[in-house]
Formats: sequence, C-alpha cells, structure tokens
Amino acid sequence: MNTQEKVKKYLAEIEKNNKRGKNINAILQINPHAEEEAKKIDEKIKKRKAGKLAGKIIVVKSNINVRGLNASCASKTLENYKCPYNASVIEKIKKQDGIIIGMANCDEFASGSSGENSAFGITRNPRALDRIPGGSSSGSAASVAAEFCDMALGSDTGGSIRNPASHCGIIGVKPTYGLVSRYGLIDLSMSLDTIGCFAKNTKDALLLLNIIKGKDNRDSTTYDSREIKIEKLNKIKIGVPDIKCDENIKNLIDEKIKEIAVKNKWEIEKINLPHINLAVETYYPLVYVEFFSGTRKFDGRRFGKKIEESCGEEVLRRILGGSEISKAEYHGKYYRKALQAKELIKQEFENAFKKVDIIIMPTIPKLPHKIGEKIQIKDMYNYDALTIPANLSEIPAISVPAGKINNIPVGIQIMAKRFDEEKMFSVAEKFEKLP
Ligand code: GLN
Repeated sequence: MNTQEKVKKYLAEIEKNNKRGKNINAILQINPHAEEEAKKIDEKIKKRKAGKLAGKIIVVKSNINVRGLNASCASKTLENYKCPYNASVIEKIKKQDGIIIGMANCDEFASGSSGENSAFGITRNPRALDRIPGGSSSGSAASVAAEFCDMALGSDTGGSIRNPASHCGIIGVKPTYGLVSRYGLIDLSMSLDTIGCFAKNTKDALLLLNIIKGKDNRDSTTYDSREIKIEKLNKIKIGVPDIKCDENIKNLIDEKIKEIAVKNKWEIEKINLPHINLAVETYYPLVYVEFFSGTRKFDGRRFGKKIEESCGEEVLRRILGGSEISKAEYHGKYYRKALQAKELIKQEFENAFKKVDIIIMPTIPKLPHKIGEKIQIKDMYNYDALTIPANLSEIPAISVPAGKINNIPVGIQIMAKRFDEEKMFSVAEKFEKLP
C-alpha cells in the first residue's frame, strides 16, 4: 500500500468510528492536506529520496503546535487558536516525511488521567469501549489502538503517555527529561513535561523517538544524544519495588517478570524505594504552581478568552490551587518542600540503579473505570501513583502490553537510568516477544 492509499484507509476508519460508529472521539481535527502531502511523499519514495518516516501516519496531541492546525489543548480557551508555527518535534517529523493526519483529543491542558476532562467530549477506549482510555493523552493512544494512524505524539508530565498506553494495550514511551525538545509544547508543568510517543510496537516507537530527540537551541534543557539502538543484553538484574496495587494486576506483572527472568537467565532483586508512596503528594504542588504560572498568558488579550472564564473544573482547581500555593511560598511552605521531596525520590532511584539495571512495575495500579462512573479526585490522582516517580526522577519509562484482565489491557512499566533509553527499549523488546 502506498502512502496515499494508507492515508485514505485511515481517513475512512476515522470517518467510520471517530464521531460515529464506535464513537471513539479521539480526533478533534483532521489535517485537510494529508492526502496531498501523501502524494508528494509517494513521489519522493519513487525517486528514493524519502526520509525515515516516509509512509508513517501520525496523530498529534492537541497541546503541540502544528502550523495551520488547532492546538486547542481540548479547551474552550484555545478553541480558535490556529498554530502559527511548528513545534521542534513536528519540524523534525516533517523533515523525515512523516504525515500528520490530525490533532488528538486529550484532557484539557493535559490535566487528567482519564480523558474525561476534555471540553470536546470524552474519548472511548477502543479495546474496552465502555471504559475510559486513560489520559491525559487519551486521543493519541486511542487513535493508535483504533487504527486511525500508525503512531502518535503525546506529552507525559506524570504519566499521560504511559497511562493511556497501558489502558489501550499499546506501547507508550516517556523519554528522559531533556531528551526531546519541548519547544512548541503548551506547558502543563515545565520542569516535568516530556514529549514522547505511542506506537503499535517497540520498533515504531524507537523509530519515532530517534527522529524527535536531540539538542535544540530553543529548549535549553535538551542534550545531545546518539542514536538509540536495541542492544544485545547479557545478564540483567531486574529491580522490583514493593508498591501498592490491585492484586490481580500485581500477580499478572509478577508472572511476566518471572517468565522473562527464567527465559533469559536474568536475576530479580527486591528493591527499596521508601518514598515512592509520596510521589502523588509531591507531584501536585509542583504541577499546580507551574501550571498557574504558565497560564498567566491566557488572560484574554492574546488568545481571545480568559482561561478562568472558559476552562473546565479540573483546570480551574489547578489555577486556584496554584495561586494559593504561590501566595504561601514566601514561607517556602509547599513548592519548596515538594522540590525537596522530588530530590529525595530522584536520589532513591539513582541509588537503586547502582544495584540493578532496570526497574519494573505495573504502569497503572488499577483497571480503567467505566465511562460515566463517578470517581473521587483523590482516586483520579492515584491512577498516576506508579508513573509519577519517573517524572520526578527525570528517568525514561515505557509501558508495554502485558496481557489482559477481564478483557481489559494491562501494561507493564520498564524504567531505566537517565538517558539509558537503549537498555529500556532492549528489555521492552524482550517483553514484546513473550508469547
Ligand atoms: N494525570 C496527571 C495530571 O493530571 C498527569 C498528567 C500528564 O502527565 N500530563 O497531572
């Protein structure tokens, strides 16, 4: 199938099941030029002049700028915002001939874990239609799982890539903080945000990550890095921390870890991360304050609407909470304390990685709830209890499908040292190959 036919096939599937049929509601806007672009890329392929992403069809989370399209952040606040420029990751994708087919639904301003906080309606989980797909990159994950595209971009501040990847039964990668440029990403929390990718297999995820990563002068937190490759693994020591989790999920993940260890003659070691249970409490003060600060530009003058007057409940909670915490900050009460706790957790991971090569645990401690079920805010925040630690520690983490419980996908999370994406992918690929 050439690129043009592939785009047509995906567009037909979107037409059939996005707003109608299964009503997945993963895509907010279609790129009207996708077919035209595909035609040009097919010509390049014929002349053997095409880039590394030629033939790949990509959906982008609506908080990443794609020139000419609408990065609404699934919010009424930015409903009419037409991106005047491309984020660095988009520039790189286009340079390698990837096609952006559309913009994905998400939780408003990436604030959420379920996909229910979008101003444009909830997204359905393509693999369990009566359940949430997870969030906040709900539409990106659902698009891949629903066969609307090959791959997708998302952002992960506390779990927003790994969480929906786990619930939707696909691969989701959160890279090391600083591996991928955030230029052109609309911030949730600039000290924790990362842009990463979704794919149907590790090979495609790696392909996309290798394209979007690298130093960018427009984001001073980025680093130079060499190509990430799958390496031949000899002896691996897997670190398994003690965590709070639904019993069935825990058993499934433990089984998988045992299986891989036996098959490859790897070792398993129990590790101690004593403050991992404080991750959620550490994360939210940081996010509230940084989000509050980041949203001050949405005061109605430049983007049309004032955020406080146009946003949903969760976003408003964060703005008001962030404002309160900022006021109390001259006492160094919450934000500074949270930064200290972040450092502590980061240190614990660094120490653990002196003893083990890789840390493995479930991606999400519970199964996704049913659409319409009322969830307490505390329970919603707890969805990310096992993903937030990687953001606080700035390390890479990937979610790989591990199996199903009651026919609902469950992901296994593999974490590595900062900038050791190579080991993370190499181990992930082994899990992918398990029968
Ligand atoms: N669920 C978390 C939150 O609401 C994570 C969001 C994210 O990673 N963007 O902040």
